[in-house]
Amino acid sequence: MLTTIEARDAILAAMPVFDTVTIPADKAIGRVLRQSVFAERDQPPFDRVMMDGIAIRFADFDSGTRRYPIQSMQAAGDPAQSLDAGKCIEIMTGASLPDGADCIVPVERIAVKEGIAEIDSDYGAEKRQFIHARASDHTQGTELLSPGKRVSPMDVAIIASCGLPEVEVADHPSVVVVSTGNELVPAGMPIEAQQIRMSNGPAIVAMLKQHGHDDCKHDHLVDDPALLRKSIGSHLDDADVLVLSGGVSMGHADYVPKVLDELGVRVEFHKVSQRPGKPMWFGVGPKGQPVFALPGNPVSALVCCRQYVVPALDAAAGRTASQPEFATLTEDVTFKPKLTCFLPAKLVSNAAGQMLAMPVHTNTSGDFASLAGTDGYVELALEQTKFPAGTTAPLHRWFAA
Ligand code: AMP
Ligand code: MG
Repeated sequence: MLTTIEARDAILAAMPVFDTVTIPADKAIGRVLRQSVFAERDQPPFDRVMMDGIAIRFADFDSGTRRYPIQSMQAAGDPAQSLDAGKCIEIMTGASLPDGADCIVPVERIAVKEGIAEIDSDYGAEKRQFIHARASDHTQGTELLSPGKRVSPMDVAIIASCGLPEVEVADHPSVVVVSTGNELVPAGMPIEAQQIRMSNGPAIVAMLKQHGHDDCKHDHLVDDPALLRKSIGSHLDDADVLVLSGGVSMGHADYVPKVLDELGVRVEFHKVSQRPGKPMWFGVGPKGQPVFALPGNPVSALVCCRQYVVPALDAAAGRTASQPEFATLTEDVTFKPKLTCFLPAKLVSNAAGQMLAMPVHTNTSGDFASLAGTDGYVELALEQTKFPAGTTAPLHRWFAA
C-alpha cells in the first residue's frame, strides 16, 4: 500500500500538461497564467497629482507668497499646462503635474475669492508634496506577473493596466465526475427509506469549480458492470479527466476497478495508507487521461478530492505550488492505526499570530455534515499515534487561494 506522499508523487508523475489558450482578460479570474505580464508604461506614467487643490511653484511659497491668482483649471486626463511664476492652477486628483509646478496645496487649506487662492497662514507646504512621482511604483517593462499564478482580482487590475485585452492561461480540462451507486437519488427526486441522497457528485464538481476548473459535468451510474463499462467507456472517449466516487472497496457491488481495467485504464495504485480514503484508486486511461476513483464515503471523497485531485489539476495547469501551511492542535489527539490521519479542523488564530486547528471529529467517514464548519484538515503523521495539544501539523485548507 502506498503512503500519501507516494500516492501524490505517482499522480503528479502521470499528469499531462494542459494546453495554453488565449482568453479575454476580463474572463481570466481563477485561471492559471501561462505568460508573463510586463508593465506597458512607467507607473505612474507621469507625475500624478494626489489631491484636489492648487498646483504652485514651491519657490513662491518659500519666499512668502500666500495669495495666488488662479491662472486656469486642469482636470485628470487634461494635457499638462504650463504654470506661470507667482500664479496657481486649480488641479484635480489624478491630473498630470503642470510644467513648472512642484507643490500641491489641498483644497481644504485654501480660500478662493475673486480669482485668488489664498493659502491658510498656518499651512506648511513642502516641495513635491502630494505628487506621486513618475515611475516611482515601477518602470516600463517590469515583470509584474509571472506564469504559474492563479489570476486574482488584483491581477485582473494589473493585466488591464498593462493594456492587455487578452491573456494566455491554461486551458480547462473537460472533467467528468461520476457518482456510482444503486442507492443514490439526486435532490428533487422522491426517495425511499433505504436510499441515500447523492451528495458527492455535486460537492466534487463544486470543489473543482471553486478552484477554477470550470468545465465539470456530472453523471450518475448504477452498480451494473455492463452499464458502467459502456458509460465510463464513452466518458473516456470525451473527457480529459475522470473523477469517480464509490464502488472501489471490497464489496460485491464494487465493480469500478475491474471495469476500468477492462477499459484499458492502467492502474497506478489502489489503496493509500490514510484515513479517511484508504480505498482510493488512481490510473491512466488509454489517451493518457488521469482517472481518479475516490471512495464513496462522503468525507473520504471530499478529502481525497482536495488532497489529490485539486493539486493534480493545478499542476497540470502549470500552477506554481503554494507554500505549505501549518497549524497547531488545540487538543490532544490519539490516532492508533498505522495510517496518515487527515483530521478535519476549524481554524482560529491567537494573539501571537499562531494558526490553531480545533479538531472536528466526524462520526465515521459518512458524517459529512460535520465538515460544514471546518476550514480544512490537518495531516497527522503515519509513524505517530499521540499528538499532544501544541503539536504543529501540515494544514490543508478546503480552498487555498
Ligand atoms: P461505496 O464506496 O460505493 O462502497 O460507498 C460507501 C458509502 O458512501 C455508502 O454508504 C454509499 O451509500 C455512500 N456514497 C457513495 N457514493 C455517494 C454519493 N455520491 N453521495 C453520497 N453518498 C455516497
Ligand atoms: Mg457503492
